[in-house]
Amino acid sequence: MNRSQQLEQLKQDLLHRREALSRALTGDLTMLQEIRRTGGDVVDFASESTAEVLSAQLAEAESRELANIELALLKIKKNCYGQCEECGNNIALPRLEALPYAPYCIECQRMMEDMDMEDAHSDAPVAFPTLSPTNLDSRSTDFA
Ligand SMILES: [Zn+2]
Repeated sequence: MNRSQQLEQLKQDLLHRREALSRALTGDLTMLQEIRRTGGDVVDFASESTAEVLSAQLAEAESRELANIELALLKIKKNCYGQCEECGNNIALPRLEALPYAPYCIECQRMMEDMDMEDAHSDAPVAFPTLSPTNLDSRSTDFA
């Protein structure tokens, strides 16, 4: 299969997955469970949980995934699917197969994850002494 055939295959997968997620969000998990059983998805369904509980737990993740899929389908329409949003290079097919709505190539993704980690560090609370009344008092006496 050449790349465009592969992308067509991924499009079919995306459409199928969108359908399954839409149904799951309305409480019908059968199609999604089917995909997950055959696709070996990491998300494991606890057999004792009711569909209601499951859909509540998964609704947020599924809504997000659904939004990602919609975006990917939009890109297919615009003929820019499979291209990295950052550098514009083709995203490697194995990556798209693993994550069909990946917006970035692996290089850009890694770069962003590195930047995220730096952000996380700078966001970490700085150990300033708390400005409790006692501290303020002792400081004012120091200056006096
Ligand atoms: Zn890139």
